[in-house]
Amino acid sequence: MTLDTTWFTETYPKDGAAFSFKIKAKLHEERTPYQHIEIYDTEGFGKLMVIDGCVMLTDRDNFLYHEMMSHPVLFAHRAPKKVMVIGGGDCGTLREVLKHPGVEEAWQVEIDERVTRLAEKYFPELCSANDDPRARLYFGDGIQWLKDADPGSLDAIIVDSTDPVGPAEGLFNEAFYRNCHRALRPDGILVGQSESPLFHKALIESMHQAMRAAGFDHTRTLSFPQCVYPSGWWSATLAGKGVDPLQFREQDARKKEFDTLYYTADIHKAALVMPAFMEGIGG
Ligand code: SAM
Repeated sequence: MTLDTTWFTETYPKDGAAFSFKIKAKLHEERTPYQHIEIYDTEGFGKLMVIDGCVMLTDRDNFLYHEMMSHPVLFAHRAPKKVMVIGGGDCGTLREVLKHPGVEEAWQVEIDERVTRLAEKYFPELCSANDDPRARLYFGDGIQWLKDADPGSLDAIIVDSTDPVGPAEGLFNEAFYRNCHRALRPDGILVGQSESPLFHKALIESMHQAMRAAGFDHTRTLSFPQCVYPSGWWSATLAGKGVDPLQFREQDARKKEFDTLYYTADIHKAALVMPAFMEGIGG
């Protein structure tokens, strides 16, 4: 099969697979000091952002990822007030975090300001909470930010990063998780996007090991569908400081006073159930 130039294709060479979008127009392309960013208008998925050839998000399905990166960790915490998003420059995770009325301060530390500026232009609905007085946008390296963070100053850390290569490589290792552990208050919870259960099981296992080695007491992985990411199935891995992120404020999640398209209390429970080939990961 030949794909002509009206298609954008991300290939997964290691797994011998690919995912394509029919393109209406290329809206933008630039090389920043950190990465190569492209924005497309697609036939079926609305706008599409690509970084270094990897699909980041589309209008049509980003709610799955942004909701599952935010609400499980925030309902697992007993009362999250100060929340940190590392990466997440499209601002979709920040918007979900700010739906929680108890959150007093939500930081987004994104290394590449251009990602946010382009999101403001091409994905304005994801940036709709950026003017919230509780939002703090900072542009810099999340690894350094956490090294410098005051000990015991955060309730939840959400690592909404690119794949573990380039600037995001250092967001997946024990040294980084150690800094997260130090920056969290007792009862604090960390969550990081952890790629595909099917394609990247070894990475998920290594994240659990590194999180435990960094001092976290319990680690858990949740999964959710995401057809535009490799294998169509994605995950996030949680690590609790003195708490087990398997437990959550179920009644609060049931009577939440904000809208979601995917997240519900039942989805939360179901997402944490591991398939047979993943059983034994976490605990
Ligand atoms: N949902 C996406 C995915 O899993 O493909 C991630 C989206 S978000 C756009 C990822 C962001 O992480 C990018 O904008 C990138 O610039 C940022 N990032 C990568 N390394 C970083 C670092 N060390 N500190 C802060 N932000 C970083």
